[in-house]
This record gives sequence, structure tokens and C-alpha cells, in this order.
Amino acid sequence: MRYLDHEKPVITLTSGPVNAYPEVLQALGRTVLYDYDPAFQLFYETVVLKAKKAMRSTTMPVILHGEPVLGLEAAAASLITPDDTVLNLASGVYGKGFGFWAQRYSPKLLEIETAYNEAIDPQAVRDMLARHPEVSVVSVCHHDTPSGTINPIDEIGAVVAEHGAYLIVDAVSSFAGMKTHPEDCRADIYVTGPNKCLGAPPGLTMMGVSARAWEKMKANPAAPRASMLSILDWENAWSRAEPFPFTPSVAEMNGLDMALDLYLAEGPEAVWARHDLTARATRAGIRAMGLGLWAAREEIASPTTTAVRTPPGIDEAVLRREVRSRYGVVFSSGRGETLGKLTRIGHMGPTAQPIYALAALAALGGALEAVGVKADTATGVAAAIAEINADEPVG
Ligand SMILES: *Cc1c(COP(=O)(O)O)cnc(C)c1O
Repeated sequence: MRYLDHEKPVITLTSGPVNAYPEVLQALGRTVLYDYDPAFQLFYETVVLKAKKAMRSTTMPVILHGEPVLGLEAAAASLITPDDTVLNLASGVYGKGFGFWAQRYSPKLLEIETAYNEAIDPQAVRDMLARHPEVSVVSVCHHDTPSGTINPIDEIGAVVAEHGAYLIVDAVSSFAGMKTHPEDCRADIYVTGPNKCLGAPPGLTMMGVSARAWEKMKANPAAPRASMLSILDWENAWSRAEPFPFTPSVAEMNGLDMALDLYLAEGPEAVWARHDLTARATRAGIRAMGLGLWAAREEIASPTTTAVRTPPGIDEAVLRREVRSRYGVVFSSGRGETLGKLTRIGHMGPTAQPIYALAALAALGGALEAVGVKADTATGVAAAIAEINADEPVG
């Protein structure tokens, strides 16, 4: 049998957007309240307070009403001025991409760039900052999703804090899938969203903003105001007593509310643990099948996405097409520089369940057979099962 392109796949194991939790889908169907209705204003405040709890922040997070690229671009536009020298840390496509936004607001850009299967070394950041005392803003992507690799942002954040520069962190695809919070890495602007590990649809940005970042943005005459890119406009929008700058995405807020409830009720540590186990089982299986991980080292492999190196001589797009048409399973491709070189299996939100590691390995192994690559699928699945069975419950 074959799954046709116009039919829905059976299992979506992508690295975002991801399938939403059923409870989130139901919440999207709640009444669309009028944004000036006191019930909605109270609800909005409640959701931002839940986000604050989930982000373990001491300041109020900001919700922007567009998927997280809005938040990233808004952070560059609001925080960076022509007087700033920006140090952009690039270990992948998203990290590199932030530098292009940064350059729109200041021509003074320095960069540390690694191979896209590697991670940023905090010591290299320390050395660069020592050589360039003028650096005033540092930007880094935590989980560079198109590579499935993790940067040590808490260590990098400590180095940046010592230097005194502002720190912008893209934690879109790591937050809620592993232990990361804005203040753990001492971020001044920390951008994340509901559409990765929180298991809600794309449509909102959640942002942690430090007190000194508010001061810097307010002192920047070019920081967007009365604009979709404005962060400043939303500073007090969380409060039921304040009007909204424009109509918030009411249905998306309903979904985010449920996603946060699910996350907090399950317990963040338990949520992170099932992301970690699913990724570990997948990696064990990939190796046992005789395939290669994209990440140069196990320690930097992401718990929310496993990137599998494309075997030589294989067209990666053809491989993914076989996975979908024969098994009804959807994986993500690489992006930009990693396109064609790897296949990504997402473990995010509802798909961060160990059973999906087995499904992913079986579908990938089966599709490899179909394109003429000998993969030891049975050994891979057995290795993943061994990893799952060896796991001890948390808490
Ligand atoms: C998903 C993601 C974003 C959001 O951007 P899109 O490409 O539009 O989905 C930003 N940063 C990272 C690291 C992401 O994984």
C-alpha cells in the first residue's frame, strides 16, 4: 500500500511545527471572546502568569502575536542600535540567520561560526570578548534545529554576564523540552513559542525580557512602536487593567493556555525526561542500525530532535518520500546548509514518547531498504527497546 500526498500522514515526527496535544486542539475551539471583554482581559493575564511560571521568570513575559520569527526579528529591531557591536554565535542555520537581522540595526557585527554539526565553545566566547571589549550585545541559538545540536547557553550566558553585554537567546525549539529558562542563561531577551515542545500550533511568540532590556529598548528611539514588530507596545498588555495595542490572537491564546496547563500539570521534569528518553532511544537505534548521527558528539545531540546523517549516494528527499508514502510517517529535512545532508526526527511535545522512537526507526529502516540501502533495522529497534527498558522513572 501507499499513502498518497493528498492524504493526511499517520504520524508526524517533525521538528516543528508539531502535532498539537488533543487537549490543545479542543481548547482552540473555545469561545472567541471579545478582547475588551473583562473575562478575556482577566484570562490573558492568567495565561501570561502561567507562562511566567513555566519560564521560571521573575519578570513578566511578553506574548507577541505571530510565530517566533516575529519575536526574534522584534528583539533585533528593539534592542540593537547602530552604537552596538554585536557578537553573533553561529553553529547552524538559525544562529547564522540572526546575524543578518542584527546587521540591519548595527553594521558592527562580529561572529564566531563553528561547523554546523558542532557547538559553540564558551571559552571561545570568553576569548573573543576579551579581544573585543566593545561588544555590547551577544546573540545565540540554543538548539539549532536544522542541525539537531545544543549550545551550552547557561555557560555562555555566564561568560556574557561577566563581560556585561546584553544576551539574546533563541530557545524556540528547546524550551519545554529540556531544562532551559531565561534566567538560567541570564538572557536579556529569550525567545520561544508554543509550536515546538509545548505541543501547540504556530502563531505566538513567548518572550522573557530582563529589566535592563526594557530600559535599553525604551532608550532606543528607533525601537519599533505602533508596529507589529514592537515589543515595547506590549510591556503592560498582560495586565487586565491595560488595553491591548491591537487585537491579540484569541484562539491561539486559548491553545497556549491549555498547553501551559498540560506542561505544568505533568511537571516540567517529567516532560523533559520523556523528551530525553525518546531522543536517547532514537540515537541508540540509529547507531545500532549502522547509521550516523549528524551531531559531532553525543553530548551536543538535542533531546528534542535527532538529526541522522544521509548515507552516501542517497537522495535525502527521495528517502523521506519513501518514509511518508510507505509508512505514513513525516520527518523534517535539513534547512539551508544542512538540506540534503540529514533527516530530522522530531521529539517535541506529544511526539516526545519513546514508542515513537520505535516507529521512527522502523519507518526509516524500511524506507532505506526500499531505496537499496542495507540498514540493520531489527538491531536498531532492539537497541532502542533496551534503552527504554533500562530507564528509571523520575522522582
Ligand atoms: C522553529 C524555530 C524558529 C521559528 O521559526 P520558523 O522557522 O518560522 O519555524 C526559530 N528558531 C528556531 C531555533 C526554531 O527551531
